[in-house]
Amino acid sequence: MRSNQKKNLPRFILQWSVIAFLLFLGVRAFLQKDYIPDFEAYCPFGGVQALSSYFLSNSLACTMTTAQIAMGIMLIIGIILFSKLFCAFICPIGTISEWLGNLGDKFKVSIKISRSADLLLRSLKYILLFVTFYYTLDSNELFCKKFDPYYAVASGFSLDVVWFFALISISLVVIGSIIFRLFWCKYFCPLGAISNILKFIWFAASVILLYVLIRITGIELSYVWPLAALAIGGYLLEFFGGKLNFFPVAKITRNESSCTNCRLCSRKCPQVIDVAAMKVVTDVDCNLCGECLEVCPEKDTLQINRRSGLKWLPVIAAIVLFVIGLILSFNWELPTIDQRWGTPAELEKAAVFTQSGLTEIKCFGSSTAFANKMKEVKGVLGVATYVTTHKVKVLYDPAILTDQKIQAEIFTPQKAVVREIPDSIQNIKMVSCQLDNFFDPNDFSHLTMLLKEKSDALGLESVFSCPVTVRLFLPGNSNLKESGLKEIIETKILRINTNELSTHFDLSFKLVGTPLPQTISLTEYKNRMFEPYQSTFNWKKSYRDTMLDTLVVQADPKQYDIEALPYFVSHLSNDNGVVGFHSSMDSTSRVFFNIIFIDSLTNSVSILKNMKNDTLTVNYEGGEIGKIVNKFKF
Ligand code: SF4
Ligand code: SF4
Repeated sequence: MRSNQKKNLPRFILQWSVIAFLLFLGVRAFLQKDYIPDFEAYCPFGGVQALSSYFLSNSLACTMTTAQIAMGIMLIIGIILFSKLFCAFICPIGTISEWLGNLGDKFKVSIKISRSADLLLRSLKYILLFVTFYYTLDSNELFCKKFDPYYAVASGFSLDVVWFFALISISLVVIGSIIFRLFWCKYFCPLGAISNILKFIWFAASVILLYVLIRITGIELSYVWPLAALAIGGYLLEFFGGKLNFFPVAKITRNESSCTNCRLCSRKCPQVIDVAAMKVVTDVDCNLCGECLEVCPEKDTLQINRRSGLKWLPVIAAIVLFVIGLILSFNWELPTIDQRWGTPAELEKAAVFTQSGLTEIKCFGSSTAFANKMKEVKGVLGVATYVTTHKVKVLYDPAILTDQKIQAEIFTPQKAVVREIPDSIQNIKMVSCQLDNFFDPNDFSHLTMLLKEKSDALGLESVFSCPVTVRLFLPGNSNLKESGLKEIIETKILRINTNELSTHFDLSFKLVGTPLPQTISLTEYKNRMFEPYQSTFNWKKSYRDTMLDTLVVQADPKQYDIEALPYFVSHLSNDNGVVGFHSSMDSTSRVFFNIIFIDSLTNSVSILKNMKNDTLTVNYEGGEIGKIVNKFKF
């Protein structure tokens, strides 16, 4: 007989390594202000939700990542082949719940739930699963973040978390687990519910297959039906103790002839399964944690699939699946959107253009905006976006477009004022440079910051060419030499320090060829830098042109601020007679505000009075009204 006090060391090490790693991330985030860990990045439950969302809408929302999907796929494979390995070895909530349960036992405060209450309470996790999936699939956002106790604590109650829900969940985990064994895991965890459904894989696969077949025949059936069928069916199978026959493949087996019926296994099982009474453990709660294998004093009495030497299979499988998930996460990415609008014949002959490094492609919204922009380009047949790597693929008709033409369509020309023009300046030195590794709007912002910090540049603009052309505007008397300019442009690290944050960006701009200097007038520079703003409102289109009048007011060019203009125009729109606005600059660099109005509804005196108000009344999206200081003086 062996000692029965042996610890299941591999499991203990794995579980507490996960907790230690999460604590390390938390401490690092606390100490390193510019480090923001994504605690949900590898959550398999988020992955299963993201996978479902992807199949239904062929798109991934911003909060859903391929890393989560990779982990979700590993979770599914793990459950089908082995068991709920994530629950047994990795889930931090499971580890803490088990530890709290042991505390409850030690201090004799734990209470055993009656069988009937146990069966009834088990329905709650299926209800939570249904609600979570329903809202996730409906909104394309991970609903579980609102109440997930792990996410709430790990993220420090981020904005996604609903405090009320999260505090209830945390109480259920902490207080519940001390009093009732694995209270959260057994009765509330939606990941536990989906894992149990996946254990009955024949049932789960039949429901999903039936739904797919119905959809293929063209019948519009809401996902609510298969979701409800899975949740209700899963609960009923658990309620009536549905048998797990072939799947999961790995099961605990007991050799009755060598078993002494000491019942240590039943007492040690965290899931309170009566292992000593079974020949094969087919209980849905068994997660192959191996505690019973470790505690059994009789050699080869408890085994996996009646074979000796498989004792470490579950823990090894958990690690291998996790590592495969990680490798997949780093090497595989599902498109956030994958839209094709060309005909099948056009798509067959389509060429593909790939552009990386577009940091603006960072979520579902920016991906959709990009697709909409590309739909306007004749010859583009479809797009796919990859937000993790900020990459896009554009399918196009090679008879109409070329790679370069598509690049030109993707490119956003920009201009920026770096600093005010000093009074002493008579003319401007314009230096045209071509830059490699420069394409994205963020590249432009980084170069603007570099120039502000390291040069006397007044402004810059970018225009598409291969490579991209950047025109720098320097004071006419600037003594910045070509070598100095090259050094600034090819700076490798841009550091930004603010009061609270210190961050840095790795840069790889490369000056191609020789910069071309040229002198331009101050007026030409001002005209180049001027960004007009235009807006129409108050049903402008419903009025005939003959009913429109324009009030032209000269503005101070030093006060011109394109960011502030929408607020100013919102204030003007409170007068129902004002229907449009645009700003302009004349050939002598004078700035004008042009206000379009209906003279039967308002008049220029009243508009001008409004423009001179010290306070602007601004209408925000969602109907909110606010007051801000008017920075424009007339
Ligand atoms: S039966 Fe054994 S392997 Fe299954 S949960 Fe209980 S202790 Fe773990
Ligand atoms: S299988 Fe369970 S009851 Fe039988 S000897 Fe092992 S620990 Fe004791």
